[in-house]
Amino acid sequence: MTTIARSVCPFDCPDSCGLLVEVEGGRAVKVRGDPAHPYSQGTLCPKMNGYDRTVHSPDRLLHPLVRTGRKGAGEFRRASWEEALRLVAGRWKAILAESGGEALLPYSYAGSMGLVQRNAGMALFHRLGATRLERTICTPAQGAGWSAVMGRTPGPSPDVVLDSDLVVLWGCNAVATSLHFARRAQEARRRGARVILVDTYANHSAAIADDVVLVRPGADAALALGIVHVLAREGLADERFLAAEAVGWPELRARALAEYAPEAVSRVTGLAPAAVEALARTLAAARAPFLRIGGGPSRYGNGAMTIRSVVALAAVLGVHGRKGGGCLVSTSTSAAFDLAPFTGEDLLPRPTRQVSMNQLGRALAELSDPPIRAMYVWGSNPAAVAPDQNAVLRGLAREDLFLVVHERFMTDTARHADVVLPATTSLEHADLYRSYGHYAVQRARPAIPPLGEARSNWDVSRALAAAMGLEEPLFRMSTDEVIELLLARAAPEWVSAAARARLDSGEAVTLAPPPGPRWRTPSGRIELLNRAEPEPLPRYLPAHADGDPLPLRLVTAPALYTLNSSFQERPELREKAGGMALQLGPAEAARRGLADGQRVVAWNAVGEATFVLRVREGVPPGVAVAEGVSWLAHAPGERNVNALTSQRLTDQGRGSTFYDNRIDVRAG
Ligand code: SF4
Repeated sequence: MTTIARSVCPFDCPDSCGLLVEVEGGRAVKVRGDPAHPYSQGTLCPKMNGYDRTVHSPDRLLHPLVRTGRKGAGEFRRASWEEALRLVAGRWKAILAESGGEALLPYSYAGSMGLVQRNAGMALFHRLGATRLERTICTPAQGAGWSAVMGRTPGPSPDVVLDSDLVVLWGCNAVATSLHFARRAQEARRRGARVILVDTYANHSAAIADDVVLVRPGADAALALGIVHVLAREGLADERFLAAEAVGWPELRARALAEYAPEAVSRVTGLAPAAVEALARTLAAARAPFLRIGGGPSRYGNGAMTIRSVVALAAVLGVHGRKGGGCLVSTSTSAAFDLAPFTGEDLLPRPTRQVSMNQLGRALAELSDPPIRAMYVWGSNPAAVAPDQNAVLRGLAREDLFLVVHERFMTDTARHADVVLPATTSLEHADLYRSYGHYAVQRARPAIPPLGEARSNWDVSRALAAAMGLEEPLFRMSTDEVIELLLARAAPEWVSAAARARLDSGEAVTLAPPPGPRWRTPSGRIELLNRAEPEPLPRYLPAHADGDPLPLRLVTAPALYTLNSSFQERPELREKAGGMALQLGPAEAARRGLADGQRVVAWNAVGEATFVLRVREGVPPGVAVAEGVSWLAHAPGERNVNALTSQRLTDQGRGSTFYDNRIDVRAG
């Protein structure tokens, strides 16, 4: 008999698609899109079509494992849960007694986006007084850039774009990273809109764009301010909107006119002055431009200022005042839920030290008093995804580091573990999902029982708390009880009683942002000038790599068939992705005597990695592109693109700077 269960895609993607899972005899036999989901409306991306093959992969970890070989060799023996928990708790107790709680480091991110499983270990490690992790690997600079101009103003619904006549995908490869926004952009185009892609190379989204504007990596702020210059110079800014809704237009106008003439901007962006002017005029002529800003432009040393400049441009165009117009960075609905009772900030014995997850290699090598002696990883694969891979691997290979990894597969990080604990997939546990690309939330219940002895992140966290002798009531709560707690404490203006009932039934429910002032900023207006910021006005800041001597700017872009290092367990997806490739334009390849398909080594001061070369027309001179994050086990040289990325941080938010590195390339 086939039953159908509702679920949600758990991966780190703004779409949080609704799933229908066909179950036969306790197995998920097919996963498809849920037509009733208000945003994804029944379609899934190529990664999730076939999710049942991930869930029932022969490579799933099904039992606890204890290391028998040298660190990183991947040699383990099977253990019982009882033995594994006893071993972990014993080592942690000894380390706590000798070195104190800060010798423990939890490391996690968005392997599962559900509020419970993603945050599962927080309370435990707070209670133990562990070093706290700054979970900043993705786009904190994007948030900082938005809030510098817009404060806490929620982003518009992505559905607004359907009424736009000019859609700008700014650093947003929507086809690969927000498929259902791409579909809406295509629908707007069918209705007559123009679509412009502003990016560093002609990626998959070029196929849905009428125009592709290629800007030099890290120079987006200069382009945005150059457009502001043209708008100001030619009387094309939305003066009525700015006078009524913004503060600081005279100051921004003066700066743009003085410093960002198209000729000056051309030198930074690589765009001809006429191209800057043409883009400005196209934007100004549109009835309702909609700017969708991706995460990529924020992953440079100047990331926050870059996003701030593009958000300011949107205000100068007056996009917010028009039907179909808007500027969307994120819609995070997490403000609807109060996570504090679950993450246990109050359990911290004192404010413990913090470590950036972007500087893991440095933390494992350099921290003292105490050094990191134990690390617990869930929902992340730092050996593959953290920057400065060689430093990370050196740290993980430390014989004196007690590493526990809770995972679904034997990832590069799990191979370095002392103890590996088997994790459930999203179909095997409950969770509560929100999105950062739309306003729907959904509660998912397990569609199938756990495979083997796999346990959910929260169940393992509870078991470890018990093994450590912790007695707080929180650690006795089931996942469902935690979800009930989160829903009971949800802001009633976001989650009404009616919405609550629909969530309990498993439906995806679109929340309306709570009523409030139009602009949730200290001044009550859009803040083009913000004196609370270190820099009161937007401006172009050089990127970190601008001063590096190597000739190619490396763009570590998202892939179509994998998501960070997720989905690498699926051979058919790896095959479609075409292996670990580095893309160069024809001129750069020819200059080095390199041909499509050959092995090449990319190198810089951080490290080197071996790729297959792909020569692509859409990659401009001076740029190299590596899409996706390969597992090291599949990488031709046992290093992936993060052997080339640095531990430098963004201007604000202490975010990652994955896109802000230079390399050169030679035959491999
Ligand atoms: S990865 Fe994104 S687009 Fe693909 S199914 Fe999941 S949420 Fe949807």
